[in-house]
Amino acid sequence: MNADAAPVAAMISLVIPVYNEEGNLKRLMERIEPVMRGLKRPYEIVFVDDGSRDGSLRMLAGFIGSPEVRVVELTRNYGQHAAILAGFSLVRGEIVVTLDADLQNPPEEIPRLVATMEEGGFDVVGSIRRGRKDSFLRIIPSKLVNMVARRITGVQMSDWGCMLRAYRRTVVDRMSECHEHATFIPALATHFGKRVTEVEVAHEERYGGKSNYPLRKLINLQFDLVASFSDLPIKLIMYGGVAMAALGVCFGIVLAVARLVYGALWAAQGVFTLFAVLFAFVGLQFFALGLIGEYIGRIYREVRKRPEYVIERVLGGGGGTR
Ligand code: UDP
Ligand code: MG
Repeated sequence: MNADAAPVAAMISLVIPVYNEEGNLKRLMERIEPVMRGLKRPYEIVFVDDGSRDGSLRMLAGFIGSPEVRVVELTRNYGQHAAILAGFSLVRGEIVVTLDADLQNPPEEIPRLVATMEEGGFDVVGSIRRGRKDSFLRIIPSKLVNMVARRITGVQMSDWGCMLRAYRRTVVDRMSECHEHATFIPALATHFGKRVTEVEVAHEERYGGKSNYPLRKLINLQFDLVASFSDLPIKLIMYGGVAMAALGVCFGIVLAVARLVYGALWAAQGVFTLFAVLFAFVGLQFFALGLIGEYIGRIYREVRKRPEYVIERVLGGGGGTR
């Protein structure tokens, strides 16, 4: 028995979603490997190919020569968050770090995230992008996401969009158990992580290729966040509806009184006001219907119990089981 052997430090798993990133993967590996070796502890890199249509998968397959790398191939494009969840279902490490494949999240920041987690005993370490290198069109929606996320989760994190994050394995396992569709991982994690903090990290330009988040996807993501973590939209409609109804009643009373005081001629001239009120109501009804429809659509999706992701196969690292 060797009593004074140093305890082996906890293993770190990196989870990296990849969607059409063939131009970035080589450079990504070149930067990750020295960082991870420098930590002098066991690690693994789980790449999740989210249905890339370029040569990304082929490049990833080329990495499985190194024993630390595993590549998860999904059957199609499920979206960044679903891809990360697929990676989560396979990780073996005690600390799980997610990062983007486009090198906007510098791998050199990983040791600091891990150190913060271990020294502070945190369950989740988020990150704030210092000197963010994105266009205005990208930054404004994310300010909105941050505001909404803070309100909805009640957790005062300042940057929810940065995916360079560290999670303790317990949190990751609990997230994997949620068979929820259309989720927002950083917000989900705050449900399962008790001690949460964030550190500042650098942010870089995309190394190659272009962003996979057009405005349409950003709006969807925003709705995922609001609709899967709160019933705020329905409540707003409810309150708005009540306020509108009350206003309508007041308006009706005013019109009736004016009709009595000023006579029928005046009331006839008020017809257009009534039309205006009617249109406002009809508009509101349509809006409410659309919103209810959105929820019903989501219920439908849950009822179908389709898997959130399907793994085609797992390459390298001795297969898929932990
Ligand atoms: N990504 C993915 N599936 C998608 C879209 C994006 O796996 O449907 C990955 C992408 O390869 C990258 C990360 O998610 O590693 C962030 O995507 P991107 O850089 O396009 O987003 P942005 O930095 O513009 O927010
Ligand atoms: Mg990016």
